[in-house]
Amino acid sequence: DSIANQIAAGEVVQRPASVVKELLENSIDAGATDIRLVIKDAGKTHIQVIDNGKGMSVTDARMSFERHATSKIQKAEDLFKIRTMGFRGEALASIAAVAQVEMKTKRQQDELGTQLHAEASEIKKQEPTATKDGTSICVKNLFYNVPARRNFLKSNPVELRHITDEFIRVALANAEIGMTMLNNDLEMYQLDGGKLSKRIVQLFGKNYQQQLIPCQEETPHVKIEGYLGKPEFSKKTRGEQFFFVNGRYIKNHYLNHAVTTAYQGLLKEDYHPFYVLFIEMDPLHVDINVHPTKTEVKFDDDRMLYGVISSAVRQALGSFNV
Ligand code: ADP
Ligand code: MG
Repeated sequence: DSIANQIAAGEVVQRPASVVKELLENSIDAGATDIRLVIKDAGKTHIQVIDNGKGMSVTDARMSFERHATSKIQKAEDLFKIRTMGFRGEALASIAAVAQVEMKTKRQQDELGTQLHAEASEIKKQEPTATKDGTSICVKNLFYNVPARRNFLKSNPVELRHITDEFIRVALANAEIGMTMLNNDLEMYQLDGGKLSKRIVQLFGKNYQQQLIPCQEETPHVKIEGYLGKPEFSKKTRGEQFFFVNGRYIKNHYLNHAVTTAYQGLLKEDYHPFYVLFIEMDPLHVDINVHPTKTEVKFDDDRMLYGVISSAVRQALGSFNV
């Protein structure tokens, strides 16, 4: 029922940025090579994600709003090898419980697409429509039916910052995908698909081009890949530090410590290095299921990981100093 849906939605949908994250991840899971994010009023009134992914059939489109309707897990054991971003089948159901949602979607093999309007956990209308391949989902008036939550939202600049943070994380983890972001008709990012180094420069600025040191390491258990900022490029703010585990953004103080101590002696006091590091490992040894919206994960062997990262960073910085 709709109350249960609203309560469950509180878990997944905390603010406009949570919607952005879920929609972007769905587009990635759908194999999109081009994703456009359009927001208005810092996402409070309008969040739209348009992709050129595989789209949905008429039935799948309707099903996608059902709780636990995921097309991504077939068997229980799949749970342990999750490579896709979403897997709980909760996001769209949760979003539709607390907003007005308009979806247009079409698979390549279908002549016509389907258009859907849902709100307060109910599909109000579905009809055929001529539309291009892929999916567009527009989430309007978030928390329109939950005033307490709506009033709890922060100012537009703060909510916009959260959205931009999500966009940047997804953009870094998917450098090969073309991505655009517009806020109130103003283009904030226009990113061509390509290499990670190019994406970093497009996201953060041309001056990053000369500041990146490649970092790579491979052991039988884990592969590290990415870029470190040169020590003298460090900043007083620590915002630009990114870890991804199997393509998923995570926060981890322990691993962050591994990186910063490897910079030891090269940094001015209270300065923080830039880094974007991808950790690839057997998903069996990472527990990402802690919480749908949490970015924390548990590793079976985080000391091993600490060691590998520390040595990867030392080596990268060392060979750069030579
Ligand atoms: P999950 O991603 O955990 O499966 P969601 O609620 O996010 O659950 O989405 C439900 C389902 O809707 C997905 O499993 C997928 O089949 C479908 N879906 C959602 N967004 C898209 C999209 N952009 N393109 C194609 N299919 C989508
Ligand atoms: Mg999802």
